[in-house]
Amino acid sequence: MVEPALSQLETDALRNDRFHLIQAAPVAGSIGAEARELITSSEDIFVFDQSGRKLIDGPAGMWCVNVGHRNQALADTLHDQAMSLTYSTPWYTSNAPAEKLAQILAERAPGDLNHVFLTTGGSSAVETAIRLVQFYNNVRGQPQKKLLVSRQGSYHGSTYLTASLNGRPRDHDWMDGASELVRKLTCPNPFHRPANLSVEAFEDFLVDEFRKLIAHEGAGRIAAFVAEPIQASGGVLMSPPNYLKRMRALCAENDILFIADEVVTAFGRLGHIFASEDVFGIQPDMITFAKGVTSGYFPLGGVMVSERLFAELRRSNHPNANFVHGLTYSSHPIGCAVAIRNIELLEDGLLEHAREIGPYFQEQLRTLEELPLVGEVRGAGLMAGIECVADAKAENPFDLDLTVGKRIDFHCQENGLLVRPLINMCVMSPPLTINRSQIDMMTDALRKGIEATAQDLIREKLW
Ligand code: PMP
Repeated sequence: MVEPALSQLETDALRNDRFHLIQAAPVAGSIGAEARELITSSEDIFVFDQSGRKLIDGPAGMWCVNVGHRNQALADTLHDQAMSLTYSTPWYTSNAPAEKLAQILAERAPGDLNHVFLTTGGSSAVETAIRLVQFYNNVRGQPQKKLLVSRQGSYHGSTYLTASLNGRPRDHDWMDGASELVRKLTCPNPFHRPANLSVEAFEDFLVDEFRKLIAHEGAGRIAAFVAEPIQASGGVLMSPPNYLKRMRALCAENDILFIADEVVTAFGRLGHIFASEDVFGIQPDMITFAKGVTSGYFPLGGVMVSERLFAELRRSNHPNANFVHGLTYSSHPIGCAVAIRNIELLEDGLLEHAREIGPYFQEQLRTLEELPLVGEVRGAGLMAGIECVADAKAENPFDLDLTVGKRIDFHCQENGLLVRPLINMCVMSPPLTINRSQIDMMTDALRKGIEATAQDLIREKLW
């Protein structure tokens, strides 16, 4: 191996054994040289870093460790399943944990979402949903119905097609995508609505924009609308009150499938197994999920599919039409066993706890709105976004140094809290086991972190 010339930074990184690992979302200039916090162990709502610091896991890993870290029951289930049936191929065999999990999910999913295709995570779930939509339209003789509609501000994954749906500010600066297949609507975040529109008028505008798109492209060309009920990685963006219901109705009127991407919102984050119907009052044609289904103890995701869609496939004149789609780790018995046990834990009091504590979490975090740097705190259940602005009262309050989220995270870590930074925002989604005094600790650390960040910005003349 030819040794590359190393900068001091790179030498340090190599010394840390980090040179060879390509981290998620690396910046080209610092691949292998970025010293990320090394997390070494974890316990319930806490993680510990290499220096032994105890930090509240504010984002629950990545919106996923819903039952908390180091759960004995899930660890035992992982072990026991590995020691009974380690693996079975999903291509031409089946296994009991997968079939049982499918039944459990079908019983809990809204409406006629009675079928599930199991995947390895969220991206593969959304990718599977899209491929199934394409297959469905091909089988029913509508091969021209292929356009996918998503929104600015959304995140649906990191495979080529799912990433093409993404619409956060920097998603496509350096990354290509299948843009010919995708149309993006305005981000439905009322905080950034045009100044002259009320929230109601903004909602009308958003629905009308979709209606116009359908008229422009033709309903016969639009296959599906893909939407997170709350845009999570965009900054916990909540749409206007009746937006989702009205978009759902427009889809139904125009034979457009509504895919609810519940990778974050399902499995307890909003206090329910699925949130589409229980929280938002809609019955989608498909629901994608991942993360909380195993509380992050095993990579697993899936897509719930409606009976109606399957009935149409069965009625087709193509008995040999083959949905050539499967993943080696689809229906993985260990993941399915963990998911079953995880759902039992959620239903054994944890969902109830999340519903009970969610309002307190929201209320406490909202007290941060009194800080001059904070423009809005928003969210529902146990997910919240804190957006920083230059001057909340200014006509355009959003012009701000964009490392603010990272700065807040840095200072919060000094106060015992790990935060997920997102440009000028940070998002919080702790394990559902969190209690009131821990929420107080979290709020206190955030307050100190935001105040210290404000002082930095003033000192550096950035604010
Ligand atoms: N959809 C949503 C709504 C997500 O938040 C994410 C991940 N943050 C994904 C899809 C992709 O999931 P994964 O990272 O498991 O592939």
